[in-house]
Amino acid sequence: MTIPGRLVLLGHPVSHSLSPRFQNAALRRAGINLAYETIDVAPDALQETLQMLVAMRSAGNVTIPHKRAVFAACATRTPVAERVGAVNTFWTDRGRLCGDNTDVGGFDAAVRAAFDRPPQGITVAVLGAGGAAAAVLAAVERWPGARAVVASRTRANAENLAQAFPRIATVADDYASAAARAGMVVNATPIGLSGDEVPIDPAILRAGTLVFDLVYRRGMTPWILRARARGLAATDGMAMLVEQGALSFTRWFGVEPDREAMYAAVRG
Ligand code: NAP
Repeated sequence: MTIPGRLVLLGHPVSHSLSPRFQNAALRRAGINLAYETIDVAPDALQETLQMLVAMRSAGNVTIPHKRAVFAACATRTPVAERVGAVNTFWTDRGRLCGDNTDVGGFDAAVRAAFDRPPQGITVAVLGAGGAAAAVLAAVERWPGARAVVASRTRANAENLAQAFPRIATVADDYASAAARAGMVVNATPIGLSGDEVPIDPAILRAGTLVFDLVYRRGMTPWILRARARGLAATDGMAMLVEQGALSFTRWFGVEPDREAMYAAVRG
């Protein structure tokens, strides 16, 4: 096992992140003598920070707003990172920055764990058209017979994203009309991070619609609470967070982390 010089999460802001909690739990459980640290880096300091991290043979994760910039900075990227156009996981190989995107596998794993139906032949409404929505589409693209309907506040963003996934994706005018036709609805906007706002009223969803919120917060998001109150199967973004982190851990160290320790750390 090659141990990186540093293991970091790059973001701006980043202090609220739960990743150090569960990554450090997994490191301790694996007996790896390394601490997972956060680095708050403003966009204009990103290139300099990356150079410093590469010189130290570092590895880590990337969060808002740097996923596309780190993608551009990588010398080598996995096919899934190329498909999404964003990097959330990086490492250093012979002085070169390398990137992957584990949000795709994290979303896929969380969906399979949350719902008792295999994700195939389903129409997925994707609310939002940013980097997380792109990762969702890259996962849906692999599900046999699945399709996606994308909507965003800014229609041009939904159109651009759907154009990158022409085999599976079409565009709807707004969040409600995308969701009305779907078997699964995914919130890929920040709505619900705080306050009581929901991306769409769960009352408009058909019975049996699966509800997946990429957002997570202590005590569940208001959308998940309201969807469950309506009797719908609904899950928040916590499992996706842990699963993308577990896939990153395997990418860095070549071994599976103790997922139970990771889940216990975020729940505790
Ligand atoms: P992003 O690139 O900024 O995209 C956000 C999208 O949401 C955009 O399409 C934006 O609309 C739309 N949006 C933003 N504010 C809105 C509002 N008030 N009303 C309606 N639409 C709004 O962000 P991202 O990286 O895709 O992340 C989206 C969310 O997913 C974040 O909350 C993030 O925390 C979460 N996430 C969770 C995980 C996890 O592991 N659980 C992983 C990744 C991301 P426009 O088209 O107008 O720009």
